Amino acid sequence: MGYSIALAGNPNCGKTTLFNSLTGSKQYVGNWPGVTVEKKSGDIKGTDDELVDLPGIYSLSPYSLDEVVARDYLLNGHPDTIIDIVDATNIERNLYLTTQLTELGIPVVIALNMMDLFEKSGDKLDIKKLEVLTGCPVVPVSALKNSNVDALIRVALDAAKTGGFKPLFHYSGLLQKTIDKVGALLLRDGIITENASWFAIKVMERDGRVLKKLDIPNETMGHIESITQDLERRLDDDSESIITDARYQFVTDIVDKAVIKAPDSMTMSDKIDRIVTNRWLALPIFALIMWGVYYVAVSTVGSYATTWITDVFFGQIVSGNLTAWMEAHGTAEWLISLVNDGIIGGVGSVLGFVPQIMILFCFISFLEDCGYMARVAFIMDRLFRRFGLSGKSFIPMLIGTGCSVPAIMSSRTIEDIEDRRMTIMLTPFIPCSAKLPIFAMIAGAFFPTQTWVAPSMYFVGIGMVILSGIILKKFPFFAGVPAPFVMELPKYHMPSFRSIALHVWDRSKAFIIKAGTVIFIGCTIIWFLENLNWQMAFVEPAESILASIGGFIAPLFLPLGFGNWQSTVAVLSGILAKENVVATFGILYGVADATENTGAVASQISQLFTPVGAYAFMVFNLLASPCVASIATMYRELGGWKWTLRAIGFQTGMAYLMAFLVNQIGSALFYDQGTVTAVVIAVVLAALLLWLLISDYHGGKTNLTYKETDL
Ligand code: GDP
Ligand code: MG
Repeated sequence: MGYSIALAGNPNCGKTTLFNSLTGSKQYVGNWPGVTVEKKSGDIKGTDDELVDLPGIYSLSPYSLDEVVARDYLLNGHPDTIIDIVDATNIERNLYLTTQLTELGIPVVIALNMMDLFEKSGDKLDIKKLEVLTGCPVVPVSALKNSNVDALIRVALDAAKTGGFKPLFHYSGLLQKTIDKVGALLLRDGIITENASWFAIKVMERDGRVLKKLDIPNETMGHIESITQDLERRLDDDSESIITDARYQFVTDIVDKAVIKAPDSMTMSDKIDRIVTNRWLALPIFALIMWGVYYVAVSTVGSYATTWITDVFFGQIVSGNLTAWMEAHGTAEWLISLVNDGIIGGVGSVLGFVPQIMILFCFISFLEDCGYMARVAFIMDRLFRRFGLSGKSFIPMLIGTGCSVPAIMSSRTIEDIEDRRMTIMLTPFIPCSAKLPIFAMIAGAFFPTQTWVAPSMYFVGIGMVILSGIILKKFPFFAGVPAPFVMELPKYHMPSFRSIALHVWDRSKAFIIKAGTVIFIGCTIIWFLENLNWQMAFVEPAESILASIGGFIAPLFLPLGFGNWQSTVAVLSGILAKENVVATFGILYGVADATENTGAVASQISQLFTPVGAYAFMVFNLLASPCVASIATMYRELGGWKWTLRAIGFQTGMAYLMAFLVNQIGSALFYDQGTVTAVVIAVVLAALLLWLLISDYHGGKTNLTYKETDL
């Protein structure tokens, strides 16, 4: 077994990028905090030394779950060396953590990352001085450009081998004396055997976890308290602030001595930010960008590729040749149909959407990685806050455009339990990659010329998050002012081709694997149910088990505009995986039957709904209970069935309500149907909305105390 090296640093300083380049692994890199919420380990390429990637932390006094993960590992995992990644463009904030890491008694090597950006900024830095002042070796690197990382590993392994560690910095007079005194007391009474200063500081700060772990006898504790209180009296502040101030003092001092700032000028990033985070322009710009992304992915390039793959490739080439081959070998007719209609029809129609998924993720990962999405989180914070949600909730929602499972997990960065619960409940409203095919298929079939339809699902999702936030805040268990959201806006940069390609490949791979497993099984089951009756005899679809189950439940969906057995069955199959919705139509309407390049499924489903009903169908699928994988994740993260069931009930209820409204009001507007019902609904709805907006929030003053940050 080799050495074990931990990567620690602030969120977004490049830890995962460095981890990937050192271990050759493919962890997810994103340009905002909270992407890594669990620790990951891997072997450094060509060695048996272990590297551990930790979630980002600002300090060793953890506030949220992922910060606890990082601190616990540093304290109890006994790494041989810590590589402290310092973002060179943000030295001041990053060094604050360094002051704490150097107190752990583990060798610390500073990796000064983002040197490529730093050099461009025109600032200058004296590395030798930085080494002397911090007491740690300093290696300038660029994780993104992969430069100098070999040197970094050499230095880190060296430090691990020799235990090379120079003493930490000293606090000024009185504080240092008090720390020494408390440390000595802890040692004397046998409460600790090493790391006296670190424990002394934590005890003086009255850190709950450390106090619990040390279990200090009352007498010693009383002694320590009186020493600490003496210090607090003399410096007229509480001990935690005294220590924090001292650290900042130290950091400022280092920066003054080792960094020479270039004369202040507005950088390119600042100029772009003036526009994209502008109070009035920010949201329209974001809407325009997301509309463009969905438009290109769903309606243009993507849709050509999809039609070709489903109709020509799977429909004619694969299915045609396979049928000929099976017929020539005397295969039973039902088996030919299972392969053609069930498997090729179902799985093929899902795989057809791979190009659209790939294009979507090309754009989204570009937007994430270049730094724009971090701005969006910031913009959303301004918006969400008015409705009692924290901007931190938006980050899981961004990740949710890929898949709700990692999105729900990433809500761990939210400290406040109520905020976290609410975020977990609302994240599945954001269209994930598995729901995209539903929208693409429906939009293609019913609204081929209306380009707003598919993108609108994204905005319906966000709108529902906000609306639900307003509603849920009315309940006592969600009341309260959202936790503050502090986030550094990273500098814009050109993403590397590699990291975008990795992300796109990752998502498409997950999609393809799912098509080959869960969807494959789902399709086989659906095909049998579609072709057998309850007596297990082969029959026409209309007499099948599937039709009888679907027909039984279908009346429930009648007011929503899709009360036929086919779409009912499609909705139900979506619980297993959302791709199944599309696959079910693929099986029912036989992609394999396509004789021309016209989109066989599209022309058939257009008989099932009115366009309004079709839109309601999309809304229902967008909002209703997510797939089993997400439910399992919700169960784990919410810690039990109570909240999981509440979440599923809330989501499905909202889905039903919204689809109902769309269908009723839409039918009245466009087809002159049920006008009276629609008017009643609209009045009730308006009254409800008014009540929601004017009645006070449970927690009180959320929207009153909030002041908009001026840019
Ligand atoms: P983590 O949160 O610390 O794990 O940070 P990530 O590894 O996810 O990186 C955050 C962002 O910084 C990503 O957009 C990276 O592409 C970018 N990044 C990381 N290292 C460098 C670097 O050396 N130079 C530049 N220009 N960008 C970097
Ligand atoms: Mg990371």
